Amino acid sequence: MTARIVATHRTPSASGRYRPAVGSTSEQIEAEVHRVGAELADAFPSPARHPMKALDARAMELAAADLEIRAALFRFVDVVPACRSMDDLARHLAGFLDELPDGPPPVLAAIKVADTRAGRAALGAAAAAGVKHMAHRFIVGETPGTAVPVLRRLWARGIASSVDLLGEATVTEPEADAYAARCADALRSLSAATARWPERPTLERDGSGGLARANVSVKVSALTPLLRPDAPELGERDAARRLAPLLREAKALGAHVHIDTESLDSREAVLGLVLALLTQEEFRDGPSTGIVLQAYMRDSPEQLDQILEWASAHERTPPPVIRLVKGAYWDHEVAEAGQHGWPVPVFEVKAECDRNFEALTRRLLAARPTVRVAIASHNLRSVAHAIAVNRSSGADDGDLELQVLRGLGDDLQDALAARGFRVRTYCPVGDLVAGMAYLVRRLLENTSNESFLHAQASGVPLDELLAPP
Ligand SMILES: Cc1cc2nc3c(=O)[nH]c(=O)nc-3n(C[C@H](O)[C@H](O)[C@H](O)COP(=O)(O)OP(=O)(O)OC[C@H]3O[C@@H](n4cnc5c(N)ncnc54)[C@H](O)[C@@H]3O)c2cc1C
Repeated sequence: MTARIVATHRTPSASGRYRPAVGSTSEQIEAEVHRVGAELADAFPSPARHPMKALDARAMELAAADLEIRAALFRFVDVVPACRSMDDLARHLAGFLDELPDGPPPVLAAIKVADTRAGRAALGAAAAAGVKHMAHRFIVGETPGTAVPVLRRLWARGIASSVDLLGEATVTEPEADAYAARCADALRSLSAATARWPERPTLERDGSGGLARANVSVKVSALTPLLRPDAPELGERDAARRLAPLLREAKALGAHVHIDTESLDSREAVLGLVLALLTQEEFRDGPSTGIVLQAYMRDSPEQLDQILEWASAHERTPPPVIRLVKGAYWDHEVAEAGQHGWPVPVFEVKAECDRNFEALTRRLLAARPTVRVAIASHNLRSVAHAIAVNRSSGADDGDLELQVLRGLGDDLQDALAARGFRVRTYCPVGDLVAGMAYLVRRLLENTSNESFLHAQASGVPLDELLAPP
């Protein structure tokens, strides 16, 4: 191992505070990971301040502990939007609970209540309220307009946002047109609203220049009904005729468009589409655009090679933002590969995925200023590691963006903002029906035994949480 001399001078951070420079040996980086992790853990809001969150956490704990409850909960959440009345909803709830082999006492009581019409109405109302409460934890509003007050409050607390318009897997052309129109409308209304917000220098500038206040995350599967792995060019062409006008609109407004990555069957088409559009002359100097790299994919290092090769060959101003995530479709990818007898494309050992995430973090941070880097994770170790590597490279804290999901990363978001880091919260907007797929994915994630949030909520000591994967 090569030991580098530790710099002893002090450098200003994005928050203007001074911090000691960090050396770059693996021991020095590990020491910094622990220091930053402990500092952030200290800045987490106390659970007593969020009684409803404590209740949610308890419900999640129960769901995580019991596979049968977990499965029943997911099936129930799936049917809620299709229920026509409270009575209907209660019947479904009682039906799902009835499937549980040895119902715990509250479950048996609920089944009993559902025996009468009045009981069913009461149970239905309670269940609807519960599902709505859970959805509102993750979804900031039904429209961009109703979401603006929430986004403005976040901004006032030093937190930027990216708005995600819910609605996935479009099946008709009119649905795709409607989604594109909603995205354009969101770009316009967010640009107008955010123009009146007070200055927040940490959120508005990094070493590469200005950062857009209005930021929208877009799903290509919602921009075309033709996105199929057997004919990717067809989907690419059809999505391009809706994505190009959105990029034009964003460029005119000075807004940012981030293209989410979905499951593997659309990944190549999505990347091909975005790189082809951004290579066009009219988009070389804007808008600010981002893509997503999924570290759970075994071939993600090669995918990063492809992205960096493209980014170096087509230097853009502003540089593209690469959001590094682990990946939200793990169960789907494993099941899909199993059904077809294909090799599993994702890591199957969580620690391997986490180690790859750290290796990709190092490569991405070293690739600046060709790209901007956003590390999207609720895992304190993954986040503290990115901060430590960034510091060891001599860069300012403000040259790294950290991103979290609304509802899952609220405490981390608050801690990061309190410590002066640039944090952006991904905020879904849409109705409950459109939000169901999203909600189920978040519930799955939150109650998985492999999840960092689950380990943290189960009281695993901080030192263990911050240990190298
Ligand atoms: C702002 C933001 C934007 C996002 N955008 C996208 C997006 O566009 N596309 C997308 O796919 N995801 C996206 N995600 C979700 C992300 O991929 C993760 O699902 C989520 O953040 C959980 O990872 P973590 O690092 O927070 O938590 P951790 O608990 O550290 O990691 C959980 C993740 O580890 C992986 N994993 C779980 N079990 C195993 C196993 N047995 N073996 C290997 N790996 C395993 C899965 O990816 C799982 O989601 C986004 C997340 C954020 C915060």
